[in-house]
This record gives sequence, C-alpha cells and structure tokens, in this order.
Amino acid sequence: MQNALEEAVRDAFDTLRSADPSFCRCSRCQEDVLTMAMNQAHPRYIVGDPLGSAVTRVALARRQLRAELSVIVLDAMRRVAAEPRHPKEVDGGASH
Ligand SMILES: [Zn+2]
Repeated sequence: MQNALEEAVRDAFDTLRSADPSFCRCSRCQEDVLTMAMNQAHPRYIVGDPLGSAVTRVALARRQLRAELSVIVLDAMRRVAAEPRHPKEVDGGASH
C-alpha cells in the first residue's frame, strides 16, 4: 500500500541512513526498519476511515510531523542494528 505516510517514512530512513555510514546497507535490515517504523507510525497518523490518507497527506507537509517520523525511524534503526536478523560478522552489505 503506497501512501503518504510510507513515502515519508522511506524519506526519513534514506536521510538517516545516509548520515550513518555504520548502519547495515542490506535490504533485509532496510525492510525491517521500514516495517517497524510503519507499525509505530501508522496508528498515530492513520485513523482508519477513508479520509485517513487524505488527512495524513496534509499533515505530512508539516515540519513537526517530519521530525516525529525521524525519531520513530531512528528508534527502529537502533533496534535493528542492535539485533539484526543476520550475524553481524557476516555482514558484507549485499551478500545476504
Ligand atoms: Zn543487514
């Protein structure tokens, strides 16, 4: 499901990851972070009615909400980095 919230979460992740060279580049860690962040953000910003996505789209233009999403994504990145779903030693970036 492509919606404004998911786009904003991906944007935040791209920005934060590029600022953190130590964070794992593999697609598994990326998907784990995005899934975790969406699970955190979704209940806050999607109210479950058909207008939810429209309301979110407007709300996402606000700088404050971007900052909140950055906090959520950063927290997800810390959790994934602390406990990646693959051994840290094997991590070459693209081999798993
Ligand atoms: Zn990884």
